[in-house]
Formats: sequence, C-alpha cells, structure tokens
Amino acid sequence: MPKVLITSLTSCSGCISALICLDIFSQFLEKISLTYSPFIMDETKIKDCDIALIEGCISEETQVSILKKIRHHAKKLYALGTCAAFGGILSLSNQKQADPLSTYVEINGIIPGCPPPSQLLGNSIIHLIEGKEIVLGNRNLCATCPLRDKMDKNYEYQIIEAFLEDLNVNVTENEPTCFLKRGLLCLGPITREGCDLECIKCGVPCEGCMGPVSKEFTSNLINFLSILNLSENLTKNRGLFYRFSKPKLLGDIYND
Ligand code: SF4
Ligand code: SF4
Ligand code: SF4
Repeated sequence: MPKVLITSLTSCSGCISALICLDIFSQFLEKISLTYSPFIMDETKIKDCDIALIEGCISEETQVSILKKIRHHAKKLYALGTCAAFGGILSLSNQKQADPLSTYVEINGIIPGCPPPSQLLGNSIIHLIEGKEIVLGNRNLCATCPLRDKMDKNYEYQIIEAFLEDLNVNVTENEPTCFLKRGLLCLGPITREGCDLECIKCGVPCEGCMGPVSKEFTSNLINFLSILNLSENLTKNRGLFYRFSKPKLLGDIYND
C-alpha cells in the first residue's frame, strides 16, 4: 500500500477540493496509507512517503524549507495543479512571488489545470497508486475543441481586438465559431489538451490553465501574439505568460 502525502502551499485549495470531490476519492483512500494531509487528518509530522501531491506555488521563503523537507521524505513528488506546476494565478500579483515547485526541487511530474479536470486527476491518481507515471496529452487544446472546424488554421488576416481583460461582448450571443476568428484572444493553440473544455463550452476563450504544450512557452506565446499583431501589448498583458512560463528543471515532462 503506497504511503501518500497531500498538502498545500500558497493556493486557493481548489486543487485539493477537486481531488476530494472525485467519485473515486474514497476508493483512493482505501488503497493508500495517508501519512500527512492537514486537510483531512491531525498528523503534524512529515514522514517518509512514496508519493507527495503538493498544491500551490511558493510565495514565501519559509515554504522552501517545507518543500525541501517533503522532497527529502518523498520517493516521488508531483505538482498538483497549475499554481504548483507553473506559478499560476498569483503570478499576476506585483506584490508576491509565485514560483512553481520545480524552481526549488526536482519534481517527478505535474497534474495541470486550475483545478485539474476530474478525468485527468482521477486517471493520474490511479496511475500513481499502480506505480505508473502520469500521462498527459501532447497536442494543443485546438485539437480537441468543438470550434476547431471553424478555425482559420493559418491565423491569417486575423485582427484580434480584445484581450480577455477587455472582454465586454457577449461571447455566447453569436453563432459558435473559433474565438480567434471572432477577434477574441484564445490561448488554445499554445495550451495543452486534456481539460474538459468547460470554458469553451460556456463561451469563454481559453486562458491556458492546462499550461504550455511545450517547454518553450514564452517564445511560443510571443510568436503567437506576433502573428496576431499583439506584441506591443505584451508588457501590459505580461500576466498572460508569467502564469505559465516559470517552471525550471522539468526534465522529461516535456518531450521536445
Ligand atoms: S491551480 Fe487553480 S484551483 Fe489549484 S490552487 Fe491554484 S488557483 Fe486554486
Ligand atoms: S483558438 Fe480557441 S476557440 Fe479556436 S479552435 Fe483553438 S481552442 Fe477552439
Ligand atoms: S479551456 Fe483553457 S482555461 Fe479553460 S479549462 Fe481548458 S485549458 Fe483551462
């Protein structure tokens, strides 16, 4: 029975909530020995474990020593969610640092998403307790998007007029078609597949929470925005790439 640690750093607790809400969470608990999880048990000592699942980014120096202690005790350590994997939403702050776990310790994998989609999360924890690695898709979000047929795959003659923050149109009003074609920035082309496409289904463009499909996210984003003639807005909208461009030492997580 694998020993498992589940904990949070700076987070909204959404990833651990998503984990606890999984249909299979009770079965997961039956198949593991939980050694430390402040959300659901009183144990205060970090002990040896086979798998550590950590939600949230590093935003304070004191968290670095906690993370290193967990790394010392864990055979495998996984970043649970976009904050832990890439820095995430706190990267929009001018006041706080928001570093992904991989800035400070070697990690064995990521379960991306804000929060991770239930199917990916469920499959991932099953794989982990079976001693297998997490499997992530390696295509972009557009490959699975229902609006893909109406996408201009060359991005030619696109005039993107609205960044997400300027969105003041009712995006569900018109006939569904690719957001880019409608002049709305959608990060689907440079985002990893694997979410349940809830944003797209609700009429909201992708903000990239599954993270980059390749480790060259910053250059991909800059190229992508250049194609759309949006480069001059990069400084103003730097949060777009800060949220997902910070991982280091990700090793084999990306294949390219
Ligand atoms: S990845 Fe999203 S859901 Fe998870 S802790 Fe960060 S903000 Fe919350
Ligand atoms: S750019 Fe966005 S809306 Fe268009 S196909 Fe890709 S994910 Fe779908
Ligand atoms: S559509 Fe984009 S922002 Fe929305 S859940 Fe999927 S990856 Fe995340």
